[in-house]
Amino acid sequence: MNVSRSRELMERATRVIPGGVNSPVRAFGSVGGDARFIAEASGATVTDVDGNTYVDYVASWGAILHGHAHPAIVDAVRTAAGRGTSFGAPTEAELLLAERICARVASVEMVRLVSSGTEATMSALRLARGATGRDRIVKLDGCYHGHADALLAAAGSGVATLGIPGTLGVPAPAVADTIVAPYNDLGAIERAFEDHPGQIAAVVLEPIAGNMGFIEPVDGYLAGVRAACDANGALLVIDEVMTGFRVAAGGAQERLGVRADLTTFGKVIGHGLPVGAYAGRRDLMAQVAPSGGVYQAGTLSGNPLATAAGLAALELIEADPGLYARLESRARVLVDGLTDAARRLGIPLVGGAAGGMWGLFFAEHAPRDRAAASRADHERYARFFHALLEEGVYLAPSGYEAAFITAAHDDACIERTLDAGRRALERVG
Ligand SMILES: *Cc1c(COP(=O)(O)O)cnc(C)c1O
Repeated sequence: MNVSRSRELMERATRVIPGGVNSPVRAFGSVGGDARFIAEASGATVTDVDGNTYVDYVASWGAILHGHAHPAIVDAVRTAAGRGTSFGAPTEAELLLAERICARVASVEMVRLVSSGTEATMSALRLARGATGRDRIVKLDGCYHGHADALLAAAGSGVATLGIPGTLGVPAPAVADTIVAPYNDLGAIERAFEDHPGQIAAVVLEPIAGNMGFIEPVDGYLAGVRAACDANGALLVIDEVMTGFRVAAGGAQERLGVRADLTTFGKVIGHGLPVGAYAGRRDLMAQVAPSGGVYQAGTLSGNPLATAAGLAALELIEADPGLYARLESRARVLVDGLTDAARRLGIPLVGGAAGGMWGLFFAEHAPRDRAAASRADHERYARFFHALLEEGVYLAPSGYEAAFITAAHDDACIERTLDAGRRALERVG
């Protein structure tokens, strides 16, 4: 496969952009090899600057639900752009997007639009702290909530530990109030409440984890966390930046029957343009400035292009009631086909799917937390990733990421991927 132009661009890019990329995982650091510079995309495929076309399972990390360059979304953005790109004053489209989110997600009564998932989650936690008058938060090891200081905490040793900075540049005090607990371990959450009575403002979690690979919550876990929050006067912040409008029209909350106090969104609600949102109970959201005392603002928040794309994406969801069942059944065909092929070859491979989100681990058993996810065979994943890339299939360039499927991935596309996947498994062994 000729990747000479991508290679040449990366050489130039590394001189002016750190690592050549504007978000780290794009650099192929954990799988090695040449990151592809994408020139264009359409439907289920992306095409790189050397003219190689790949069936795309990254889908802008889940943001692209209806397929790349969907005509309705492109039209909406073009029309909006022709009317002006930003005003710094309210627009009707912001109201319409907020109304649609409220109508779809049962726990949401009010919405504040921002420009990224990072901003949404950072702001939701500020609100949770402001509303409860408490400082501590609980986050789960392996869940990603964007790059706000307080959320870049790594787990220390022990079951539920006070966070230590997970990166250079975060001062210890910024994560001193962040308690890190393992995923799927209700006992750890209950102990955190016992150890810090009356101090925990919120538990924040990914309802289906997608940032340590695809990991689903075990039965009763989310209900247990909800009950522990209620018993201790803490808020439950469900980060649906990835799962919102991705696993169901009402988000993971609808699929799993859990109710957040505050919910964060991103990705699909901008369908590839920069949008995030935090949302939830009216009594809480009313405490955000200017109606309340929790300050948060944004020059480009509710940007007309981004809200136009988001509205068009949500309209397409509403017009297609069978969408999520169809996405999930196709994702399951993929997961089942690949795990069957691996079993015949004696390769341990497990996987799962929820709506348009899915994932694989080279492991004997489906991991339930980050520690187990890190024991999967990530070197084999890297070889599988490259074998598939050579076959024209683009999976996430890391075994710690979920995969995505769009409405444009039709049965032929899935068959083609399965054929490629079987050959790739044979090759990597
Ligand atoms: C992607 C993601 C974020 C961060 O969103 P950005 O738009 O990249 O800032 C936060 N939480 C979850 C669960 C995510 O998947």
